[in-house]
Amino acid sequence: MARTPPALKPAEASLNLDNALQLLRQAGHPLPEGEPHSAAWLQALVDGLVDLSSRDALTGLANRRSFELALAREIDRVARAGEPALLLVLDIDHFKRVNDTHGHASGDLVLKAVAQALLECVRPMDMVARVGGEEFAIVMPNCAATFGEAVAERVRRRVEAMPVAIGIAQQIQVSVSIGGAFAPQWVRSTPTLWIERADVQLYRAKQQGRNRVCLEPSALSVVSAEEKALLFGISQFQDIE
Ligand code: GH3
Ligand code: MG
Ligand code: MG
Repeated sequence: MARTPPALKPAEASLNLDNALQLLRQAGHPLPEGEPHSAAWLQALVDGLVDLSSRDALTGLANRRSFELALAREIDRVARAGEPALLLVLDIDHFKRVNDTHGHASGDLVLKAVAQALLECVRPMDMVARVGGEEFAIVMPNCAATFGEAVAERVRRRVEAMPVAIGIAQQIQVSVSIGGAFAPQWVRSTPTLWIERADVQLYRAKQQGRNRVCLEPSALSVVSAEEKALLFGISQFQDIE
């Protein structure tokens, strides 16, 4: 018979959770259901707070914190399984002009529209994050080089062709510059190094005139069984040959 977890004792139940609940309410997040302060109720509250602290409040995308976690996870997977993975970093071109010409509120509408466009261009397994003011990143696990190039170009074209409504009968258009770098397969890198390599490419894209994609050439990594053995020990990678 399934047992319902016991409700907490009065001392534990006197925790002050008003601020936590208010945060969820303010963000329009569903509130925990069931008996207040029961284990299930508290778990739902914690889950809600975790969700809130992983997202960017303006766009609803993953925030920098969860982006960095995803990147570290991806590095681990690439090093263990040798799956290719791509990191794209994107920066809206001349965004300061948008704010200066149309106001900060219009700038915010552009950020939301770009976020939505990015989400529509990627697979469910990819993570789209807002990592700075007008800067975004996409982590793409298991992404072959040609596919990565196609997605980056698709994103660029989608944003370029997307009119953003900023008022009655007023629309503006923006573009993004995109830099990308593949995680070195079979090598344990760090999030910082990976981001730096993608940033170098973004810088190139800006230098070359903006509204373009620059990807680091993906080093074709042909690793022999012997090399894998040196890296991991035979027994650990038998299932991935
Ligand atoms: P570049 O093409 O070289 O990237 O030029 P830029 O104008 O986009 O770059 P810059 O870094 O000078 O400007 C970024 C602007 O983004 C400045 C800042 O006011 C604006 N910004 C940052 N965060 C937000 C935000 O949350 N909302 C709005 N509306 N603007 C923001
Ligand atoms: Mg910027
Ligand atoms: Mg910019």
